[in-house]
Amino acid sequence: MSQIDLSSSVSPTSAVLKPEHEHQHADDLYSKLWALANNLWWSWHPECDQLFRDIDPIRWRQIDHNPVALLREMSAEQLAERASELVLHSRINYAYRRLQEYLAETNNWATTHGGVLGAKPVAYFSAEFGIHESVPIYSGGLGVLSGDHIKSASGLGVPLVGIGLYYSQGYFRQYLNENGFQGEDYLETKIDDLPMTPATDAEGNPITVTIATRTGELMAKVWRMAVGRVKLYLLDCNVAGNSPEDRELTSRLYGGDQRTRIRQELVLGVGGVKALHALGIDPGVYHLNEGHSAFGPLQVINYLMHEDGMTFADAQRETARMTVFTTHTPVPAGHDRFPPELVEEHLGPLRDSLGLSEHELLALGRVHPDDPHETFCMTVTGFKMSRFANAVSNLHGVVSRRMWAHAWPERSEDEVPIGHITNGVHTPSWLAGQMALLYDKHFPADWKSRIQDPDVWQSIHSVDPGELWETHNALKNNLLSFVRRRVSRQCRRRGESDDVVEAARRVLDPRHLTIGFGRRFATYKRANLLFRELTRISELLQNEDRPVQLIYAGKAHPKDEPGKRFIQEIANLRHDPRFSGHVAFIEDYDINVCRHLIQGVDVWLNNPRRPLEASGTSGQKVVLNGGLNCSILDGWWGEAYNGVNGFAIGQGRSHVDDNITDERDAEFLYRTLEQEVIPCFYDRDNDGLPKEWINRMMHSISTLAWRFSSHRMVADYTERAYLWAAGGVTCDIRHS
Ligand SMILES: *Cc1c(COP(=O)(O)O)cnc(C)c1O
Repeated sequence: MSQIDLSSSVSPTSAVLKPEHEHQHADDLYSKLWALANNLWWSWHPECDQLFRDIDPIRWRQIDHNPVALLREMSAEQLAERASELVLHSRINYAYRRLQEYLAETNNWATTHGGVLGAKPVAYFSAEFGIHESVPIYSGGLGVLSGDHIKSASGLGVPLVGIGLYYSQGYFRQYLNENGFQGEDYLETKIDDLPMTPATDAEGNPITVTIATRTGELMAKVWRMAVGRVKLYLLDCNVAGNSPEDRELTSRLYGGDQRTRIRQELVLGVGGVKALHALGIDPGVYHLNEGHSAFGPLQVINYLMHEDGMTFADAQRETARMTVFTTHTPVPAGHDRFPPELVEEHLGPLRDSLGLSEHELLALGRVHPDDPHETFCMTVTGFKMSRFANAVSNLHGVVSRRMWAHAWPERSEDEVPIGHITNGVHTPSWLAGQMALLYDKHFPADWKSRIQDPDVWQSIHSVDPGELWETHNALKNNLLSFVRRRVSRQCRRRGESDDVVEAARRVLDPRHLTIGFGRRFATYKRANLLFRELTRISELLQNEDRPVQLIYAGKAHPKDEPGKRFIQEIANLRHDPRFSGHVAFIEDYDINVCRHLIQGVDVWLNNPRRPLEASGTSGQKVVLNGGLNCSILDGWWGEAYNGVNGFAIGQGRSHVDDNITDERDAEFLYRTLEQEVIPCFYDRDNDGLPKEWINRMMHSISTLAWRFSSHRMVADYTERAYLWAAGGVTCDIRHS
């Protein structure tokens, strides 16, 4: 919680006028640092990160890079002492001033492109938000996408508020036991260490929302977090008044059974809309990021009926017009389905208020309303409750239209009203500081405010190849130090011998071609594909002239036994002499591990079973830092690869028999490595530079960085969905 919230008490200009002398008042410096710590804006500004790190480098690492926790451990006097020692005054003043200027800025992309959104903001609902490792309320790709979405909305100035849940234990911390098998730890986050405050209503009272169910009321309090110019509201069921069981309802992300799940989704959707109402926020657009929040529109309809006197039919039409729905996966298990009893228990009272019969309510979540055996599907609800629906890549759009065609029996497959907006990543969050300095030197001065502009990135071709290569290698060295530190720590924790711990400090070699793989260990992602032929891959790793090394990381869902066995298979390779020293597994994949990996690898490997990867975003982060993608032509890579900006595995085909697909793709993977990737990396000119490789790095950056940025993505959502939803234009623009 914010001890001192400066954002309202200090005017943006007062800091500018203050003299920056040595004797600046201790309280003033301290409160400026608090202001920085209390807005997650700091997390995408390397100079702020460095500032906090410099105050106490060791603590910084121990406390997950959490500036609130850091400051809570220090008094204003202690801080003033450190600041004098390290001469931090001008850096603190400068960072603070930049934050204030950013918050006060009125001239940005949305000023000219945001149109009617100014009057009524977009409400963006998501079950998880991945903003920074110090705020553990995300599990993986969906959360990081949501975090990147709200950061880019802030950057572009798009009026938007985020709605999510506060999970006091987050997802889980992964560790591997002595057999290489995954174990899970659930740690309670210290709420006082988070940059959030209780959200208040117009009278300044903390907000609690109450949701009626057939089996009693469910309550949630509301927290507020500042992410640049965007406010993120998080609902938390740990409140007095809830039963002991309900107080834990929101403690874990994707934990518990179906009843836990529907109750969490009730709080997110219905509770989220009620929270907005209590806050006095009247959104012009509701964006449901995945089906988890698809109950929300029912509460919007309820307000329109009871406050504006509309009929259900009119209110439903009006609500759908304002609603944008994004579906995120073609994997069937990724679509929540609930039996009618659970729906009735939790939506019953709202259904009464809407004047719907049980059958009419269930029909909203069914493709065939009259089929009593069909469960209530949140994705179907999302489609029925929205006028604009989209998938997250071109290929995912094709697959989704096929997958849901039966919901529109009167239409042909390509007339199914699901379009696509391809995912992107928040450039400032994923770009390494050192690479940003290189861009500062060679790009147009205003490049940071034109991230989605292709012209900006053309400048990479005028960078000296040697300079780009050196910068990349410096980042690669950072990664290898990180890997060694983590791997030796893992060995120590397992109680392994000093020799083993010592050997872990020396794994990997900065001169070797380094391939990274980091993602959830869902089986369709086939993390072990490279190990189908152990002799073949070990020969590639051990080759004297052209050696290769591998870094893996990723969590399996606690209930995913096959996924956990994939992890075990890879982690235990370190005991095999053919692989030891050449393969590393980093435990507890999170935003921090991901950031290190994507900033330092030469190659990012992705080999999902096509077409199950809806988009994928980690490879987009690699692009920014000069790494090359080597991927199956699935998700975003299917539309990104152009022959010279990375490497393709296979030709974008899949067999109906998974075994044949896997066999074929493994062969393609080996061949791509043997015939393209490895020769290209080791082909050096007289200066020792891999000219063709660097050429690919430049093409990767110039053709992909702008296009797969979340600035481009949010601009697309704004121009193609939000403005239409807010403006009430009635033509069907869903299918793009
Ligand atoms: C970016 C990111 C992801 C998403 O990566 P995919 O390519 O979709 O697998 C998942 N987890 C973390 C921690 C990330 O930072």
